[in-house]
Amino acid sequence: MKNFDYIKPSNLADAISALKEYENAFLFAGGTDLLVGMKNNFLKPQYIIDLKGISNIKSFEYQEGWHFGALTTIRDIEVSETLQQKMPFLCQAASSLGSIQIRNRATIGGNLCNASPAADIATMFLAMDSQIKIISIDNEKVVGLDKFFTGPNSTILNRGEVLTEIIVPKDAEQFKGVYIKFGPRKGMDIGIVNIAVLLDADFESGLCKRIRIALGAVAPTPIRARQAEGLLSGNALGPDSINKAAELASSETDPISDFRASAGYRKELVKTLVVRGINTILASNRNS
Ligand SMILES: Cc1cc2nc3c(=O)[nH]c(=O)nc-3n(C[C@H](O)[C@H](O)[C@H](O)COP(=O)(O)OP(=O)(O)OC[C@H]3O[C@@H](n4cnc5c(N)ncnc54)[C@H](O)[C@@H]3O)c2cc1C
Repeated sequence: MKNFDYIKPSNLADAISALKEYENAFLFAGGTDLLVGMKNNFLKPQYIIDLKGISNIKSFEYQEGWHFGALTTIRDIEVSETLQQKMPFLCQAASSLGSIQIRNRATIGGNLCNASPAADIATMFLAMDSQIKIISIDNEKVVGLDKFFTGPNSTILNRGEVLTEIIVPKDAEQFKGVYIKFGPRKGMDIGIVNIAVLLDADFESGLCKRIRIALGAVAPTPIRARQAEGLLSGNALGPDSINKAAELASSETDPISDFRASAGYRKELVKTLVVRGINTILASNRNS
């Protein structure tokens, strides 16, 4: 690993000016992606700016929607009793990431900014219609998470910009949801296909009011299956409509073949997981 200078600012303003001042500087949140990249010599930062000394972006609160500081750890989300009650599907996605040691260090901001197509929390936040706050020395902007990813390990972030917050709209609590990470191993591996399904339905009649389907590991970035969502929203949920939506969702993907699975297998898997995701939510809410 190449030598680097280490900077640990205690506030956001200092972190942003360091980022602006030093070329080839990388932000360090939990380091669980960054250090792997450095060890493998994919990344050779000259400066590391450690964000962990900044206390005001480490937690989350409800304020006309949920505001999650970028440094919130995956473990904080997994074990939060409040989130378990309000949005258990988010905790479920958190619990599927890595191991407990990784979850204790890994942050939600790091998961988004690393921009893996298979990122677990990113896929769930995408289904939740989240927005993100980006701050630089002279600007602050809020953009939809669906506009953030531009390709594998690539985002709209420019040099000098820091992701500080993930904002989840307040209506996220009205949904029932599920996160399925499909892969041969139970932990410590990324999924062959990941799916987050959020459903707002009349469970007695089977009417789907709104549905959101996000998919990971089947395109250069996590994606929403918008056409499948459009087919089901406002319509009855039955075997035919669910199967059609699953076909549509699969047609919206653009997976690669790699050592984990072929593109064709991933496309088939999307169909199965869309059906499984919706049926899982229906089965657990029909009589509740
Ligand atoms: C053994 C192991 C298992 C893993 N398993 C999984 C898994 O199952 N699922 C999964 O999704 N991921 C997994 N990961 C990947 C990783 O743990 C997650 O992506 C994690 O959330 C990254 O967060 P971090 O805080 O460690 O990011 P870091 O490594 O600190 O940062 C990642 C990248 O984002 C940038 N960055 C970080 N924070 C910000 C910010 N606020 N603003 C701008 N840029 C920022 C950094 O400069 C860096 O380029 C695994 C990693 C390891 C080592």
